[in-house]
Amino acid sequence: MYSTEGRGRLYPDIVATVGDTPCVRLNRTGPDHVTMYVKVESFNPLSSVKDRLALNIIEAAERDGQLRPGQTVVEATSGNTGIGLAMVCAAKGYPLVITMAESFSIERRRLMRFLGAKVVLTPKEERGIGMYNTAKKLAADNGWFFASQFENGANADIHESTTAREILADFRDSALDYWVTGYGTGGTVTGVARALRSERPDCKIVLSEPHNAQLIGSGVPQERLADGSPTGSHPAWEPHVIQGWTPDFIPKVLQEGIDQSFFDEVRPVDGVKGMGMAQYLAANEGILTGVSGGSTLLTAVEVANEAPEGSVFLVMLPDTGERYLSTPLFESIPAEMSEEEAALFTSTRET
Ligand code: PMP
Repeated sequence: MYSTEGRGRLYPDIVATVGDTPCVRLNRTGPDHVTMYVKVESFNPLSSVKDRLALNIIEAAERDGQLRPGQTVVEATSGNTGIGLAMVCAAKGYPLVITMAESFSIERRRLMRFLGAKVVLTPKEERGIGMYNTAKKLAADNGWFFASQFENGANADIHESTTAREILADFRDSALDYWVTGYGTGGTVTGVARALRSERPDCKIVLSEPHNAQLIGSGVPQERLADGSPTGSHPAWEPHVIQGWTPDFIPKVLQEGIDQSFFDEVRPVDGVKGMGMAQYLAANEGILTGVSGGSTLLTAVEVANEAPEGSVFLVMLPDTGERYLSTPLFESIPAEMSEEEAALFTSTRET
């Protein structure tokens, strides 16, 4: 049952532990006629898929000389990228400034500050574009390195060279009929799809987006500046509950996936129902994930209900549920004892 071989190596620093996350079978979720696996990205050192891109953006910039020793790094992020960057920058000795809309969860800000980063909050009315433009201006005014996750080629590249390789290796001796994911920057879907399309061409790629922000589903193209960044909000966007997903524009990194027809299906999902699925997954499989993971899994179960007998699914779970303690994900979870719990306590005091 348990391996006692350790990991067979000593790690030179924390960033060396990024990646190689496990694909775990679900035993109580989804219809009986399919097999479902989840790729549990919370096994990364700072508990999300974004540790991968954080590391590669910094290392690619080190390699090509864009980032000098001790230079400040700046980025606009809804949280997980900032937390990953804070880990990488702390380990490698770069100061970090994060811009983040005030609407994202408090524990994300505090985590980044705990890891030594500065967090500049931008008004929620300015949406994702406001935090992005703030980061861009800070970089230009101060000569900082702008990580620029929405345009940076190092984003999708790391998913092609790690996430996808791990999936291909783990499913070497198994069918893989459906791979299901959502998108924030689109790095995960674009990078993994590059490899799946060439090496597992029969695998169907399902992309999920919020039902009230169907940027891709709308078919309306994104207007862009010369550097690929958006000119403004996409008309199909509305505020939604799936933190980390679908900013108010179609990122350049995701555009490659659209242009290459990397998705066999784009499916809308209700994020509130996705939260219910995250809670179901925790209570029935012992796997903790956030709102985006729950929403991705809900999409996968809907596809599975109509899928052929024996289909094998792999579903991305981008982060951990613990990142959402102060958010609606945990709203229905009381801190006080229920009547049943109180009765159990009382029963120990009866003589
Ligand atoms: N879920 C969460 C919680 C995220 O933070 C992100 C990244 N913003 C994603 C999903 C999507 O990942 P990607 O940026 O690779 O599309």
